[in-house]
Amino acid sequence: MPEGHTIRRLARSHARRFRGREVAVSSPQGRFTTGAELVDGRVLRSVDAHGKHLFHVYEADLVVHVHLGLYGKFSLVTTPDDGVPAPVGQVRMRMVGDTHYADLRGATACEVLTEGEVEALHERLGADPLRPDADPEQAWRRVSRSRSPVATLLMDQAVIAGVGNVYRAEVLFRHGLDPLTPGRDLGRERFDAVWADLVTLLGDGVRRGSIDTLRPEHAELRCSHGPRTRHTPACGRPVYVYRRTGLPCLLCGTEVVRRTHAARNLFWCPTCQDSS
Ligand SMILES: [Zn+2]
Repeated sequence: MPEGHTIRRLARSHARRFRGREVAVSSPQGRFTTGAELVDGRVLRSVDAHGKHLFHVYEADLVVHVHLGLYGKFSLVTTPDDGVPAPVGQVRMRMVGDTHYADLRGATACEVLTEGEVEALHERLGADPLRPDADPEQAWRRVSRSRSPVATLLMDQAVIAGVGNVYRAEVLFRHGLDPLTPGRDLGRERFDAVWADLVTLLGDGVRRGSIDTLRPEHAELRCSHGPRTRHTPACGRPVYVYRRTGLPCLLCGTEVVRRTHAARNLFWCPTCQDSS
């Protein structure tokens, strides 16, 4: 599933290509026809993101809310000289602007919301480390009162919005945290450090367009293979533990372990992240 940095990048690129102009909105697949008719031909005023939720705000306060879910994808393409081509596959929403067009496929949510409904959604969502108006106090209140493991809380979008499986595993490793540490045992100092790190890591993800969580001093540890060895996706990723099951921890050599936690894979180093 795309994490918050991906949605923030989408918001930026959509703003760059469509904001301040009339956008032709349609639903070639037919599942969003009524919604598309409401906003079709209107000027896109702004684009916003909160965690994994994307908002296109059109005139008359009509907001298209998109959540990509596990399989959703937005493609943004420069319109060729001979015009916008016929849609390929199941295009839920097509946006056509002056110079570009965007196709949305496979999203969990694509709907028109009123401003009130958008506000209610913002209130349900936790603090997003990428939003300048984020309130970490709100996240701290939830975390510090919870018996749930910090691994669960980090993925709970009502606590912190935008963190997915990769950032969760990596931020826990970077702070030497046992993923099963209950939220209420975390302590203010460690919470503050984790929050600050998420702000940095997600912001870095927005700039790069990809996730790289290795500290500068560990950049060379990225892969233990020699220069002539064929790399695998697991060894080539610039991460400490995510999807590195069975491979040696970059820092201590212990095998990285995986277990299913709340229906998602959780990866960690039992030595570096030992609370006992
Ligand atoms: Zn380790």
